[in-house]
Amino acid sequence: MSNSAIRVHNLYRYFGQLKAVNGISFEIPHGSVCGFVGANGAGKTTTMRILASLDYPTMGLAEICGINVVHHPDQVRRLIGWMPDHFGNYEHMTVLEYLDFYARAFGYSGVERRQRVQEVMEFTDLIPLAERFSNKLSKGMTQRLCLGRALLHDPQVLIMDEPAAGLDPKARVELKHLIRVLAQEGKTIFISSHILSELGEMCDSLLFINNGRIVHHGDAESLKQGTDAAGGMLYDVQITGDPGRLSEWCSVNPYAEFLESRKLGGRIRIDSGDPEKAAEVLARMIRDGLRVTEFHKEQRNLEDAFIDMLGRLDRGETARPESTPPPAPTFAPH
Ligand code: ATP
Repeated sequence: MSNSAIRVHNLYRYFGQLKAVNGISFEIPHGSVCGFVGANGAGKTTTMRILASLDYPTMGLAEICGINVVHHPDQVRRLIGWMPDHFGNYEHMTVLEYLDFYARAFGYSGVERRQRVQEVMEFTDLIPLAERFSNKLSKGMTQRLCLGRALLHDPQVLIMDEPAAGLDPKARVELKHLIRVLAQEGKTIFISSHILSELGEMCDSLLFINNGRIVHHGDAESLKQGTDAAGGMLYDVQITGDPGRLSEWCSVNPYAEFLESRKLGGRIRIDSGDPEKAAEVLARMIRDGLRVTEFHKEQRNLEDAFIDMLGRLDRGETARPESTPPPAPTFAPH
């Protein structure tokens, strides 16, 4: 039995010859928010659908709160709220009727059902829209309805596939706020998105998938502060006096490369991410008479970090050890 809310081990999903998910393993602890990032076709939806018990893996293990999604889909569905990237709607059904219909399907009845629907509508700010037809809502309203539906049975784990896709900035902020509140309530949230900067703000960890393989799992900060493709790290340095002295100093020092002037100094690149190397460069600057007032790592944005990582992979450098490929997979019954 695992202590993680989500556990995936050596998971494969082949569509004919296509290896949509190709031996991935990861765990997401209870109460954390994990962003799932990857290019179009990387395998995000396939992984999420398996976790939501909507598809079978070709091989491997997927568990929600220690429960195997293939063996016990009914138990898993009680634990998860699933927000797909596209969802069907019904004509001539109001928002209230829609949520009431699903609350009934989840087994709620009488006063409890009315209360549950009311709570969810309050949380997702759908009360003013209660009598609107559910297929006549804007994209942002539709996403709130979809989230409301996913929350009706108060699930421990939320799996959200691209919930922010197509939303305008205001609707994205609203959705982000709702996700933050749900995280504060202790729910585990697994969310895919192409908007990396937003994921970085709200996620405890980021899981990068590329061609069906996990290429990174870590927190956003470590990615932003990570080394560039050649193993170097960027620093912003400010000095008193003539800023040109910084470039002169770099030109005669082997580890530091001067990249660009700034008002009080410039950007430099140190050829290693080792903090000892940075400390040595700083000590040498001071020893050589530079009056340093600022010396700090420059943060990359997450998009750059992601592109950088894909570049490393193209060059054959693996960012993270992969699990050992297994023998030919046996196909699960569909
Ligand atoms: P996107 O960001 O575009 O939604 P994704 O990361 O969610 O992409 P998936 O939808 O998981 O990617 O698709 C992974 C690969 O599997 C793609 O090449 C896709 O075409 C393929 N695929 C997904 N579902 C099926 C299916 N039912 N039959 C055949 N191929 C499929």
